[in-house]
Amino acid sequence: MLAIHGGTAVRGGREWPGWPQYDERTEAKLLAALRSSRWSVSWYSPRGGKSRERLFGEAFARYHDAAYGVSVDHGSSALVIALEALGIGPGDEVIVPVMTWVAPATAVLRVGARPVLVDVDPVTGCLTAEQLRAATGPQTRAVIVVHLACTAARIDEITAVADAAGLAVIEDCSQAHGTRWAGRAVGTFGDIGVFSLGAAKALAAGEAGAAITGNRELYERMLMLRADSRGYTPQAPEPGAYELVEYGTVMGANYCMSELTAAILLDQLPRLDDQHTRREARVKELEAGLPGITGLAPIPVPAPVDRRGIYEYGIRFSPGTFGAAPVEQVATALTAELGTKVYPPRTPLHRSVLLRPQTKPRFAREWAAAATRAADRPYPGAAHYRAHTLLMHHSVLLGERREVDDILTALDKVRFHARSLPTEGPA
Ligand SMILES: *Cc1c(COP(=O)(O)O)cnc(C)c1O
Repeated sequence: MLAIHGGTAVRGGREWPGWPQYDERTEAKLLAALRSSRWSVSWYSPRGGKSRERLFGEAFARYHDAAYGVSVDHGSSALVIALEALGIGPGDEVIVPVMTWVAPATAVLRVGARPVLVDVDPVTGCLTAEQLRAATGPQTRAVIVVHLACTAARIDEITAVADAAGLAVIEDCSQAHGTRWAGRAVGTFGDIGVFSLGAAKALAAGEAGAAITGNRELYERMLMLRADSRGYTPQAPEPGAYELVEYGTVMGANYCMSELTAAILLDQLPRLDDQHTRREARVKELEAGLPGITGLAPIPVPAPVDRRGIYEYGIRFSPGTFGAAPVEQVATALTAELGTKVYPPRTPLHRSVLLRPQTKPRFAREWAAAATRAADRPYPGAAHYRAHTLLMHHSVLLGERREVDDILTALDKVRFHARSLPTEGPA
């Protein structure tokens, strides 16, 4: 019997790997930042030397083989300063995939531009080059490409289309930390790569973000855009001196990352590759087992991807695999078997309650114009992806082989008993 009907759960209460992961070394780094009396890049440095937020920006860029990195307070802010650095504003349209977190769309509105929501591939949930080409119009200035969940958008084809149309490319890698495409980090193919480093992400610091670029001018603009028009001193500051200088070439706002947050990230970044290796081992086992269960398959990953970052691991199922049960009911049954959340992808943005620009005076007008182009369009790719994909947080893959066996057993069990699942979705 299924656990939702009172049967014995597959995993019987054994714990899953925790997230986020930290230890005494993290505590020591955080305490050192606390005791340094320097909690912000804006405050002077009693002992001299670079701020932790500057050091993290540099380390994060190095990790991606990018020339420049900027630390910020959120992934959302990284999107805003990326758009501003590229000069995007009123009158401009920016293409945003309909299947993503709400921040790429709100960031476009925040700079006064108009987000154009575009359908995605039905199996990967990512924007395709073909969809980008079809959606590009005379006002289109840029595209925000999202590498979604556990796969990557076809960035080679997308940048080719964008280059031909003269569009700027922002890669949102908030769900693809460390993903490499033919040996090269995603986030370095477009003009700017942006990352959320929020609590759930594969590189996490609670509330944080970053942007990387190979373009010095965009880098200098992003520095000022994130620190009220200030950039760094060329050299590390002397004891007692400030590290930020009022250049004022472009007007900014305050999106600075706290020194305490940067301390956590400087601890977490060197752990990322070990975590990747562990997750990749579990994924290999899982993907060896999935074809043994009728109707289930992994989310496809483009062949050039030779290192795969995972934010949410996705399993897709063909229509009818779970009888007439909607994805929400399948996910609820699996959650009960496993004791960890299994969930469908989020509601596509055109139907998401998180995207309600009409409720804010400064966005309402732009949105009314965008709505005429986007709101009532059908999004069949997003609808298919959303209805046939099951997601799990990446931390479930930080354990042992045994966790994988439990996941496979639960999938097979729920599929076998699918006829006993409710056939109505949640209200
Ligand atoms: C998490 C996420 C963001 C937002 O990042 P915050 O740090 O929460 O502002 C942006 N884009 C994508 C694709 C995300 O997954």
